[in-house]
Amino acid sequence: MNTLQIKNLSKTYANGVKALDNLSLEIGNGMFGLLGPNGAGKSTLMKTIAGLQSADHGEIIFNGENILQNPLFIKKQLGYLPQDFGVYPKLSAFQLLEHLAVLKGVPKNERKEQILALLQKVNLYEHRNSEVHSFSGGMRQRFGIAQVLLGNPQIIIVDEPTAGLDPEERNRFNNLLSEIGEQLIVILSTHLVEDVRSLCSQMAIINKGCLIASGAPAQFIEQLAGTIWSKTIDKKDWQRYADNYRIITSQLNAGRLNIHVHATTQPGNGFTAVVPALEDVYFTQLVNAPQHV
Ligand code: ADP
Ligand code: MG
Repeated sequence: MNTLQIKNLSKTYANGVKALDNLSLEIGNGMFGLLGPNGAGKSTLMKTIAGLQSADHGEIIFNGENILQNPLFIKKQLGYLPQDFGVYPKLSAFQLLEHLAVLKGVPKNERKEQILALLQKVNLYEHRNSEVHSFSGGMRQRFGIAQVLLGNPQIIIVDEPTAGLDPEERNRFNNLLSEIGEQLIVILSTHLVEDVRSLCSQMAIINKGCLIASGAPAQFIEQLAGTIWSKTIDKKDWQRYADNYRIITSQLNAGRLNIHVHATTQPGNGFTAVVPALEDVYFTQLVNAPQHV
C-alpha cells in the first residue's frame, strides 16, 4: 500500500498569489480526483508533488519519506503528465519513449519490450514510427499515458488530461485511465466533475489554495440526499430566484433555465426533489465554503 501525505502545504508565488494555503491531504492507492475551478491551485500542488517546484511551508511524505527534502525518492517512482506537455522534438513515438525511458533509468535490456507493450496498451502501436508532434490531441494524451507508465511507477499524476479533447477522445482516454489499476496512487486533477464521477473512488475539492472537502464521491452524494431541489424557470426570473434561494447550478434547457437549489426543507413554490449528482456536491461545497480574502 502506498501513501502520500500532504501536510500544511503553502506556496505564495513571487507576484503575491497564494496558490496553496495550509493544505493537508492524505491519498492512498486507487484513483483520486482533485477537483477545483481554474486557479484553485491544482497544478501548483501537482508540480510540487512531482518535485518540480518548492513549497514555502509544509511537508509531503511519500511512503514515509519526506520528498521535499529528498525529491529523488519520489522521482524514480513517479509518472507525471503535466497540464501543458509543451513542445515535442522531431522524434517518433518510439524514439521519444526510448529517450524518456533512459531518463527514467529503465534498464537497457527492458526498454524495447516495455515501450512496445505500452504503445500497445495506449493503442498507438501502429503509429509507433510517426512523429508525436503530428498526433491529434487525443493521441498525444494517450502517448502521455505511455510516458507516465514507463518504469512501472507507484504514483501517477495527470493534470487536466481531458481538457480540450472531443467527447469520443475523452471517453477513450478515461477508459485507458480506468485500466491503470488500483495497486498504485493515481491523482487526476480536473475541473470536470463528470471525469471524477466516472473514475475516482476518492476525491478532494480545493479552491483558492484551500482544501474544502475530501472523501468518497458516493458518501458526499449520500450526505446531500433530500436537500437538492429542481425547478425550470424563465431566464429573466433568475435574479429573483438567486435573491431568495441558494442556487447551486443553473443549466440552460431548451432556452429555459433548470436551477438546482440547496435547502434542508422543501422550498415549496413548485420545486421538486431530485437525487443529488456529484455536480450538486461540488457546487454546494464551493458555494458554502468560507470565503477567503
Ligand atoms: P489550477 O491548476 O487549479 O488552475 P494553478 O496552480 O495553476 O491553479 O494556479 C493557482 C494560482 O496561482 C492562480 O491564481 C495562478 O494564476 C497562480 N500561478 C500559477 N503559477 C504561477 C506562477 N508561476 N507565477 C505566479 N502565479 C502563478
Ligand atoms: Mg491547472
